[in-house]
Amino acid sequence: MISLDSTPVSTVVLCSRCPGFADLADSRAEGWRIGAAHEERAHPETDQARDTLSKIRARA
Ligand SMILES: [Zn+2]
Repeated sequence: MISLDSTPVSTVVLCSRCPGFADLADSRAEGWRIGAAHEERAHPETDQARDTLSKIRARA
């Protein structure tokens, strides 16, 4: 499960199934892009982050 931890200056991408995974993004959209890439690589059986990313893109 991908989650984003946003602060005023940065967004940290976390994966609840990979305690060692953390990545920095410039924005929430970028965070979801990174999370979706991680999910596709590490958890191809789930699509939570990719689904969220596609909804963000549909709004943009
Ligand atoms: Zn993971």
